[in-house]
Amino acid sequence: MPQETENFNDIRGAVQSLCSEFPGEYWRKLDAEKGYPTEFVEAVTKGGFLAVLIPENYGGSGLGLGAATAILEEIHKSGCNAAACHAQMYTMGTVLRHGSDAQKSQYLPMIASGNLRLQAFGVTEPSSGTDATRIKTTALKDGEEYIINGQKVWTSRVEHSDLMLLLARTSPREENKKRHKGLSVFLIDIREAVGNGLTIQPIKTMINHATTEVFFDDLRVSASSLIGAEGEGFKYILDGMNAERILISSECIGDARWFVKKAAAYAKEREVFGRPIGQNQGVQFPIAKAYAATEAADLMVKKAANLFDSGVSCGAEANMAKMLAAGASWEAADMCLQTHGGFGFAEEYDVERKFRETRLYQIAPISTNFILSYIAEHVLDLPRSY
Ligand SMILES: Cc1cc2nc3c(=O)[nH]c(=O)nc-3n(C[C@H](O)[C@H](O)[C@H](O)COP(=O)(O)OP(=O)(O)OC[C@H]3O[C@@H](n4cnc5c(N)ncnc54)[C@H](O)[C@@H]3O)c2cc1C
Repeated sequence: MPQETENFNDIRGAVQSLCSEFPGEYWRKLDAEKGYPTEFVEAVTKGGFLAVLIPENYGGSGLGLGAATAILEEIHKSGCNAAACHAQMYTMGTVLRHGSDAQKSQYLPMIASGNLRLQAFGVTEPSSGTDATRIKTTALKDGEEYIINGQKVWTSRVEHSDLMLLLARTSPREENKKRHKGLSVFLIDIREAVGNGLTIQPIKTMINHATTEVFFDDLRVSASSLIGAEGEGFKYILDGMNAERILISSECIGDARWFVKKAAAYAKEREVFGRPIGQNQGVQFPIAKAYAATEAADLMVKKAANLFDSGVSCGAEANMAKMLAAGASWEAADMCLQTHGGFGFAEEYDVERKFRETRLYQIAPISTNFILSYIAEHVLDLPRSY
């Protein structure tokens, strides 16, 4: 018998009602100004939605990824964008799974209440790209402190966060037998670091994403900032990646549903040659195809979330969910723009904005090639390609 998946209808309803307060005009204005959606993030935080994955004893709701995916899907399905705050949901997982009791009691209740924002996640560097084992940012122990030097790129939301989870090298690559050893994770207090060795430089991008480059110049942090064991940080970051991929997949499903709904509505209403354009199979078939692709991808997202919540290994499913959902949202985006003809380019329809926003997921947080590579190597047992 197929397992019944909980749909979290109450949560979905509450998120829909919150999102109705943030219509297209709100996002369009921010997009033009490259502004951060502070009011939206505050509302989502206040509603407790970003704390669903934090256990109840630390002040969260203690729910699983199933609930979290429902929240993110609804945000995106409503035309909003959770990229400004989604990291608050999953970045804390590293602290929860690998932090000491003292770190968990110090940070998790404050993160759950929204008094501390853990939105920033510094892994990617300009020279190493996807190969995180080659990062050059170093953290060298000096008594009761670490001294951090180096540079990160695409560190999103750092200007709107109090804390940053940082991956840095604590011993040279050559000194470690395995390439992923010698990397460590730190929880940095951005408020103390800015002006004392941390500099933030915004990057102008095709989407409104509050992303930056960050530079570390002899930044001193307390040794108590280290999460877990020194040298084991890469494993900790990997541990969180399945959750991140499943959550991002649900944003893609939400985007895809938004595009399909928007396209179907326009195709019914827009008349050319004396009939609705949606009467032409050349217009209706791409909408139907995008709908089917979305529903299929959603099954994989739900399967991956169920496995994750049951504590079963789900690397293949999390990766496939991300690839299929990002594929579905991009197909739906292209279809929706095409359905709108020239009006798809007009900002007031929100299609071009959502089109740009959903394109990101072919690349971040992991690009499609690396998912295919994962499936080839880990599922199909083909030779490792890199
Ligand atoms: C808007 C935005 C926000 C981001 N936010 C964050 C963040 O908050 N924190 C963070 O740490 N990072 C963040 N990132 C970084 C993101 O995770 C990376 O951009 C992504 O992982 C790809 O890395 P790269 O850009 O260095 O591409 P590269 O690794 O340089 O790859 C470039 C292209 O080559 C392909 N490629 C490379 N090697 C191979 C190979 N062996 N086989 C096949 N194909 C290959 C890739 O698939 C890709 O298409 C963000 C990026 C963007 C654009």
